[in-house]
Parts: sequence; C-alpha cells; structure tokens
Amino acid sequence: MALHEYECPACGGAMEFNPKTQKIKCPYCDSEFDVKDYVANHSASSDNVSAENYETAQGDQPMFIYSCGSCGGEILATESLGSMKCPFCSNNIVVSEKFNGKFAPDYIIPFTKTKDDAMQAYKSYVKSKRLLPKVFFDENHIDEIKGVYVPFWLYDSTQHYSGTFAGTKIRTWRDSNYNYTETSHYHIERSGYESFEKVPVDGSKEMPDDLMESIEPFDQKAMVPFNMGYLAGFLANKYNVTSQESRDRAIKRMSTSAITDFKSTIHGYNTLRPTAESCTTSDEKVKYALYPVYVLNTTWKEINYLFAMNGQTGKFVGNLPFSAVQASKYYFPIAGITAVIAFAVLTLFF
Ligand SMILES: [Zn+2]
Ligand SMILES: [Zn+2]
Repeated sequence: MALHEYECPACGGAMEFNPKTQKIKCPYCDSEFDVKDYVANHSASSDNVSAENYETAQGDQPMFIYSCGSCGGEILATESLGSMKCPFCSNNIVVSEKFNGKFAPDYIIPFTKTKDDAMQAYKSYVKSKRLLPKVFFDENHIDEIKGVYVPFWLYDSTQHYSGTFAGTKIRTWRDSNYNYTETSHYHIERSGYESFEKVPVDGSKEMPDDLMESIEPFDQKAMVPFNMGYLAGFLANKYNVTSQESRDRAIKRMSTSAITDFKSTIHGYNTLRPTAESCTTSDEKVKYALYPVYVLNTTWKEINYLFAMNGQTGKFVGNLPFSAVQASKYYFPIAGITAVIAFAVLTLFF
C-alpha cells in the first residue's frame, strides 16, 4: 500500500488543511498552499500487514498495521480508515488506495469549522446541562474531539408519478321537513415527474443513520472536486457499503417524496381513495462524496454519549447514547502498535 504524507516542501514538516483559510498549511514554517494546486510530494510504501489476531473493541472490521514513513512507528487501523494521524509523531498519513480507483471520491465538502469551534460548541453545550459528571468537562477529554470525513453516496433520479383517485364531496342542508345530503363523485388524476439531485445516503456500515440525519443538512453548493489535500489532519473512511447496496434506500426516499408532493396537490374532498398509483425511476446517477463531521465520544457508567457537529455548518447534537456504541467503533480506530506488542507479551507470559 502506498502511504501518502503531506510533507512541507519548505521545511519538511507535516502540513494540515486549515478550515479557516481553506488552504493547506505547515504549522512549523507557516507556508500555505492552495489545495487545488497541491500534489502529492512525498510517498512511502508500507506492507499492510493484516492484524487478524488483534482483539479490539473495534467490532467486526478487519484491522491493518501500517508503518509510518516519517518515524517508522507502526500504526494499527481499521480496514476502512484511509486518513489518519501517526500516534507517535503526529504525521498526517493517507493510504492512497482507499481514495483511488473505485474508491476515488467525486466530491468533498471541506471542513469550514475548526476543531476550536467544535470544542467551544461542546463546552457551551455541556455547561448548559446541570449535574453532569466531571468527565464531560475534562480538558484532556474535550481535546479528543476528532474531525472525520464520512463517505456518502449522492443519487440523482427522475421520479415519474401517476395516480388516480376516487373522491367525494358531501353537501348537507335542511328545510322544515327534511335533511338533505348530496354526494358528488369525482375521478381525480395526477401525473408528472419530479427530478431529484444529490440525495445523500451514507456509505458506511458503522455510521449511525440517526446521527447523520440530525446534523443535516449539508450545503452541497460548497462541494468541490476531491483532492487528497483536504484530508490532511483529519480522519477519513472509505465506503464499505456500495452504491448498489444503498440504492434502494435512496430511491425509496425520492419516490416517497414525489408521491407526497403529487398527493398534496389534491384537496377539498371529503373522502379520497387511491384507485391506482405508480412511481417509476429514470435518469439514475450516483456520485461519491466525503462530508465533514466532528465527533466526541464520552463513556460514563458504561453508557456511551456522543457529541457530533456538522463540520460545515456548525449544527450539533448531543446525547445519542444508543448509537454511540456503533460510532465509537467507527471513529476511534487508530492505536499505536505498542498495544499489540503488550498484548503479545501478555499472551506469552500468562
Ligand atoms: Zn514548513
Ligand atoms: Zn510517525
């Protein structure tokens, strides 16, 4: 596997993407570059050793071991993780194969919120909660907020709707002798099409859907062609749910919306009954994009609490304890390999 590093051409330092300036910046000598001008300038290759026997809390994902091209330290990561920070030397590393070929994203929404913004949002959020245990306020813990690019499929399609309905309008009145009821019967037809663009469905098995939905929407106008430079300093995962596997969910979302829209144009009837309805799909297209999210996972009394913030708009949610078990598997997958060695040693001696 090819490991890609963001070595500063001026001083050799590890460069990072700066959400404020939207440039890639060296924190040591302050050199800055436009991301679109940025090209890979330093690559190393690493034997990606499969760490099959490594028992972790990371769930079912296979683990891999990479060796850092800068310090030689060995890094343990999940199979999906493609952008990470070396836990020993803080070098920013991308495993190129996770973002090339069939894994190459078409677009990316770059982070516009900084980690500081996320930490501030988190602090005012927990401050507003009373009687939270100390762990939620611990600075070292808050510093664990991580910026993650989440894989998304974006679907286009045209939904062709056709529906017929039987409707009635009822009129009642009375005179001195009788009560009258007049029922008029109507045949109602609606047909037409509605086009949808870039409807997002997340492309990761571990990603809690309720979490992503609660920090939506993302502004797709800010989406730019993918460049690896945007990943520098952030975690990023490749998709592990294919566009084909997510398709049904996306089409369902679009057809449901089209059906609702057409039906909402029918009103004024006392009763309404569909007699025939259909919705078919054409002009399907799918693109692959990465979306920016900040997350912080807190465990207290064996329950996981999740704080997540949209890395583009700053919208955040807190307290999603039921999903957080999944999220923690997804978001915190990097560890130094020393842990593996300790594990091996323990196995030998006990
Ligand atoms: Zn530099
Ligand atoms: Zn390193």
